[in-house]
Amino acid sequence: MLGDDTTTEKRLRLLQAEFTQHQRREPGDGRTATRTTSPAPLDLNVFDRIRAAVNEVVEHTRTAAPDAGPIPADETRIYDWSRQHTAHLNDERQQARETFIYRQGLEHAIAMGDTTVVCKHPCPSCGCWGLLWRSAVQRAACINRYCVDDDGLSRSWPLETLAHHHIAEQFGLKSSAT
Ligand SMILES: [Zn+2]
Repeated sequence: MLGDDTTTEKRLRLLQAEFTQHQRREPGDGRTATRTTSPAPLDLNVFDRIRAAVNEVVEHTRTAAPDAGPIPADETRIYDWSRQHTAHLNDERQQARETFIYRQGLEHAIAMGDTTVVCKHPCPSCGCWGLLWRSAVQRAACINRYCVDDDGLSRSWPLETLAHHHIAEQFGLKSSAT
């Protein structure tokens, strides 16, 4: 069942833990204050990422369900909150919601260094397994040497496309089962 997939929530929780751990480590080092060697860049990236992810869910949910009310105090519950308040919407809207939740799950995993999440998807063009994450362009590239675009370059896909295909397949299975 779609609502059972808590992976994105788990990953967000891990990201958050990573962030707060960094925060705590800084002052309690036991050594003399070394404020000049601030680990800020990484922390801020993680912090910004969490903020952006939560904001996206809130925005999407409030657009679809303006009376959704306040968000949960525990921000990692944001996905459940969104599902609860948009459960009455048609399949198309629910599919859109699941697609961005799934995409966020991929983003969270990659933010924590697990880029192998992309190879769990077949190439949307040729169906080959073994996509590779290219962080410089933030896209998953196909390893099939014959899978190229008009310019002869390896085809590559944003996470959004992988999420779209993955969730579309799930919804397809669901509707053909009923
Ligand atoms: Zn391909």
